[in-house]
Amino acid sequence: MAAHHVPADLPDKLPHYIGGQFVDSVGGETFEVLDPVTNQPYTLAAAGQAADVDRAVAAARAAFVSGEWPGMQARARARILNRIADAVQAQDKRLAELETFDTGLPITQALGQAQRAAENFRFFADLVVAQSDEVYQVPGRQLNYVHRKPVGVAGLITPWNTPFMLESWKLAPALASGCTVVLKPAEFTPLSAGLWAGIFREAGLPDGVFNLVNGIGEQAGDALVRHPDVPLISFTGETTTGQLIYRNCADSLKAMSMELGGKSPAVVFADADLDAAIDSTLFGVFSLNGERCTAGSRILVQRPVYAEFCRRYAERAANIVVGDPHDPATEVGALVHPEHYAKVMHYVELGKSEGRLLAGGGRPAGLPTGNYVAPTVFADVPRTARIFQEEVFGPVVAISPFDTEQEALELANAVRYGLAAYVWTSDLTRAHTFAQSVQAGMVWLNSHNVRDLRTPFGGVKASGLGHEGGYRSLDFYTHQQAVHVTLGEVHTARFGASERTSA
Ligand code: NAD
Repeated sequence: MAAHHVPADLPDKLPHYIGGQFVDSVGGETFEVLDPVTNQPYTLAAAGQAADVDRAVAAARAAFVSGEWPGMQARARARILNRIADAVQAQDKRLAELETFDTGLPITQALGQAQRAAENFRFFADLVVAQSDEVYQVPGRQLNYVHRKPVGVAGLITPWNTPFMLESWKLAPALASGCTVVLKPAEFTPLSAGLWAGIFREAGLPDGVFNLVNGIGEQAGDALVRHPDVPLISFTGETTTGQLIYRNCADSLKAMSMELGGKSPAVVFADADLDAAIDSTLFGVFSLNGERCTAGSRILVQRPVYAEFCRRYAERAANIVVGDPHDPATEVGALVHPEHYAKVMHYVELGKSEGRLLAGGGRPAGLPTGNYVAPTVFADVPRTARIFQEEVFGPVVAISPFDTEQEALELANAVRYGLAAYVWTSDLTRAHTFAQSVQAGMVWLNSHNVRDLRTPFGGVKASGLGHEGGYRSLDFYTHQQAVHVTLGEVHTARFGASERTSA
C-alpha cells in the first residue's frame, strides 16, 4: 500500500476563534487529536472550559446587540453568504484533504462534502432574500403582520461525521437569519472547523458574529448548553447526548433543534429493479464509512428475491475497496477514532451470534493497523437482535426477510428510531402507501439519499425533535412577532367610565 498521506502545513495547535481572534483556552487546557489511520496524535486542540464559552458568548452577544449583522438588509447579508460559498468552493481540495486526514473518510467522498457545504450557503442566501412574511387584513379595522427577527446567540453543536458539511448546515441558516453564533465542533474531528475563521473573515463577516470554541462535549458543549445568554441550541449527535442536552436546556427554556441517531430501513419488494436496489442499498450503508445518520443499515427483502439479493449483495460487499482514505480508489476508509472502532467491532462480534455472516466480519486483510473494518453483511437477522435495533454507525448491515407488505411495515417500524426510510418497488400505489405509513422523517422511493434543500430534514421518535430545512430553518433561528395595528376608530369596552352613584 502507498505511504500514508499527511497534508502539508498541518497546524501544530487548534485554538478557539473568539471575537475575530485566535485564542488559547483561558486556563491553557488542550487535548490531543488523533489521525485515524495511525491513531497517533497529530496536533493539540484547545480544550474549552466554561470560561472560554463565556468569552465566546460575550463576543457573540456584543456582535448581536451592538453590531451591524442582525439588522443588515437581507441582500447585503446574502452577498456575504455567497462570498463564503465561493471561498469554500475555492479551497475544496484543501478542505477535502484535511477532512479525509482527520475523519478517515475516502477522499472522493470528502470532495463532495465541500460542494455541499458551499451549496448550503448559496441556498440560504437565496432564501433569505426571497423571504416574505404574512400579513392578515381585516378591511377597514385592522392590519396584522409578522415581524421576523433573529433570536440572538445561536449555540451550534456538531458531530464528527462529515464535520465541515454538517457545520455549514447550521451556520448558513443561523447567519442568514441574522443570528450570531458559537460553534462547538466534535472533539474527534476539529481540524476543518478552523478553516471557517479565514473563510468568514475573507468574505467580510463582521468580527464576533462567528465564534468557535473547541473542546470536549461534557465541558465546552455543556457550558454552551447551560449558558443563560444562549437562547437556542441546534444539536446533531447521538440520541443519548440529545436527551441529556434536552434536560439541560430546560432551566433556561431554550429553543432546541435535535438531529439524532437512526437505524433506517431499506425495503426491497420482489417487484423492484433489483440491480438499482442493490447499487443503492450498498451505497446507502457503506458510503461515508457507514458513519452516516441516514444509513439504510437494515435491509428488508421480500422472500421471492431474498436469496438472490443476499448472494449478490454479499458478493459486492466483499469486493468493496477498503484502504487508505487518501487513495482515490478507496471506497471505505478508516473509522474516525479507536473508541468508535472498538464500538463497531463489538457489534460485528455480536452479529455473529445474532445473524448469518455473509461478508466481512472483522479487520480486512492487509490492513493490520488503523481503524479499518471490512464491510460486514449479516443475513436472517431477527427483529429482536441488537444489530437490528441499535445504531452501529459503521460499515455493518443487517438483512432480514419478509413476506407481506404488512410485515415489512411492522419490521420497518419496530425500532426506536425514525430518521429515514428507503423503498424499492415498481408498484406506484404501494410505494406511496408505504411511504405514508412508515415512521420516518424522510422517505426516498426508488432512490438513495438525495437531498432537496427546500424539504424538511429531521426524524421522528428517537431520531430527533423539530425539523430544519428550507424555511423551517429560518423559522427556527428567528422569532416571529405578531404586530397588530388598528385602522380607524378604536372600539374598546370603557372600564371605569360609568357614572358612580354615591351611597
Ligand atoms: P455525540 O452525541 O457523541 O456528540 C455530538 C456533539 O455533542 C459533539 O460535539 C460532542 O462534543 C457534543 N457533546 C457531547 N456531550 C455533550 C454534552 N453533555 N453537552 C453538550 N454537548 C455535548 O455524537 P457523535 O458520536 O459525534 O456523532 C454521531 C451521532 O450523530 C450518531 O448517532 C449519528 O446518527 C448522529 N447524527 C445525526 C444526524 C441527523 O441529522 N439526524 C446527522 C449526523 C449525525
